[in-house]
Amino acid sequence: MDCPNCGVYNPEDRRVCWRCGKELPKPVEPPKKKDPRARTQTILWVAIAVFFVIMILQLCGLPKTLQSSLGTPTPSSYHVPAAPPGLGLG
Ligand SMILES: [Zn+2]
Repeated sequence: MDCPNCGVYNPEDRRVCWRCGKELPKPVEPPKKKDPRARTQTILWVAIAVFFVIMILQLCGLPKTLQSSLGTPTPSSYHVPAAPPGLGLG
């Protein structure tokens, strides 16, 4: 590490600067490795979020440029059968 006082390089195992004699700060410990499972879970959540965004986009109607690129054109007159009245929650 570099001495904070004079800026000269010191080996990591040195406690005082070889040049100016000032005490060197303790070497920074390497960050602990995170749980790989947590990372995988994060990727999974991101994938789920992307999936939902795509679903919402398809439900709301994609721009024609996106439709042509995806190859799944949805008819503009897409008819959704309305639920008959009387089938409410019991
Ligand atoms: Zn120094």
